[in-house]
Amino acid sequence: MKSVDPPANKTRPRFGEPAKFLPVLFVVGIISSLYCIYVFHHCVPMLQHKLAPALRNQAMEQRALIQLAIFHYVTLLLLICYIRSIMIHPGEIPNDPLWNYPAQDFRADQNDPEKEAKLNLQEQKRSGERRNCKWCGKYKPDRCHHCRVCRTCILKMDHHCPWIYNCVGFRNHKYFFLLLFYAVIACNLIAFTMFESVQRSVDANAPFMSMFALLFGETLSSFLAILVTCFFGFHIWLMMKAMTTIEFCEKSMKQSGYDGSAYDQGGMQNILGVLGPNPLLWLLPLGAPTGDGLSYVGEHSKLTVDMAANQRKKTRSRGSKRSGGGRGSGDEYSSTGETGAS
Ligand SMILES: [Zn+2]
Ligand SMILES: [Zn+2]
Repeated sequence: MKSVDPPANKTRPRFGEPAKFLPVLFVVGIISSLYCIYVFHHCVPMLQHKLAPALRNQAMEQRALIQLAIFHYVTLLLLICYIRSIMIHPGEIPNDPLWNYPAQDFRADQNDPEKEAKLNLQEQKRSGERRNCKWCGKYKPDRCHHCRVCRTCILKMDHHCPWIYNCVGFRNHKYFFLLLFYAVIACNLIAFTMFESVQRSVDANAPFMSMFALLFGETLSSFLAILVTCFFGFHIWLMMKAMTTIEFCEKSMKQSGYDGSAYDQGGMQNILGVLGPNPLLWLLPLGAPTGDGLSYVGEHSKLTVDMAANQRKKTRSRGSKRSGGGRGSGDEYSSTGETGAS
């Protein structure tokens, strides 16, 4: 019987569905509204340019200048991170015969143990085979998952984010993380500093439009500040545990506890894995992590350390006659293949 060929891996246009830009437009709308309200209804009136310099409240003018400078710096970095999160592809499985999932007839010779050992894969199917994607026709590297929205496999997939019309994965994780960081600063800055203008406009019975804009901006920024701060806190925790959102959900489903991702290399190494090798560039949208996004097991990783400890235990109890294969111990880390990554 002739086997069915794997589906051809067509390259599809990255932004082929205009409707999926609607959430992006919504976010751009929120950023523009909050920017206009903060600058034109809060900072500019505080500069008191209609009054003669001698009559101005100097302290208030100074405050407005400092707030304007910080706000513009944060907004600029936020926009760069937002654009980079949208534009930078999170990473796909390379077009390399090593990762091509062969048709049934050839699968036997492709499962060459030597080749597999070279890949150093930790995640596998329950049956012990290499994980593969039936839609892309490829073998999956560790931490790679198929995104049904992007219709491709994403390296170190974190989650699909409709607000950036992109997946968060290996290559754009840093920009997404910094996008949250700058959003936290911007929202909290607006919510805390604009409050005095809100109070003043209510006390002085300001024109309706101005009062409405300030109240609307204050409510929206406070709401977003709480939301984004919690979400960012969760992502810091995930980074310190060397976990992606998908891996967190898998652990929740298995109720296996969150202390010990197979890829945990210790706090510092985990940060380097997300924010890049140069600490001076950690908070700037530059210097993303190096590597190919295919392999995550280093000499410091928990898995390697555990395996080495097991090895020592085995050799001690059984003598130096037989050394157990390391790969088998990875069963608890194995993923069941097609995760319903949303
Ligand atoms: Zn796929
Ligand atoms: Zn996606």
